[in-house]
Amino acid sequence: MRKEFVVIGLGRFGGSICRELVRLGADVMAIDSSSDRVEEFSKIATHAVIADSTDEEALKSLGIQNFEHVIVAIGDDIQASILTTLIIKELGVPQVTVKAQNDYHAKVLQKIGADLIVHPERDMGIRIANNIMSSNVLDYLELSDEHSIMEIKSNHRIAGYSIKDLDIRANYGINIIGIKRGEQIIISPSADEKILLGDILLVIGAVVDINRFVNRAM
Ligand code: ADP
Repeated sequence: MRKEFVVIGLGRFGGSICRELVRLGADVMAIDSSSDRVEEFSKIATHAVIADSTDEEALKSLGIQNFEHVIVAIGDDIQASILTTLIIKELGVPQVTVKAQNDYHAKVLQKIGADLIVHPERDMGIRIANNIMSSNVLDYLELSDEHSIMEIKSNHRIAGYSIKDLDIRANYGINIIGIKRGEQIIISPSADEKILLGDILLVIGAVVDINRFVNRAM
């Protein structure tokens, strides 16, 4: 069965989610109050509809309550974003993902039952800052305010040593959960695994500890 989603708000963020979901083979109902936006997405989405998502009757008549997952990607209009999320949760949609503009917005969204709250600008800022600080940090997945998984490219300072030699867990309190080596991926590498130049280490731990490792060891 094809996956079905609703994306509300077709700005840069919602628009890019809509395009990517379609590219990945999903059915997407795209909703925006602007006819220009909807016209653009009528060529991309499975259905593109002009509607004001703060109008409960309009959402009901579109059958929003029958979808498993709705993405609320309304940008600057925080009030509309909150009201839309509230209506959708009240209609019983199990999974609602909402873009937050700031921490206050996120707090309210959490209270009214948003299932996943995303901060794309903030997260991208963090990711880019990490990339700028260290060319060895390739990617970054935030697990909580303090913890993350980072992809770190090995350099000549650690290449040739085994995980045991580096004693990363004892020295930094972080764990290597995988190694990407070309096409190969080694999951849960053993302590004897020798790190090669150019290996990409998947490291999990507190951000401060991972940064300590990157700055000191590499
Ligand atoms: P981004 O920062 O992701 O580009 P924008 O603020 O530019 O976000 O886009 C948000 C989109 O949400 C706009 O296309 C706007 O027309 C749409 N939008 C705003 N309020 C509503 C609403 N109540 N109902 C439906 N769409 C809305």
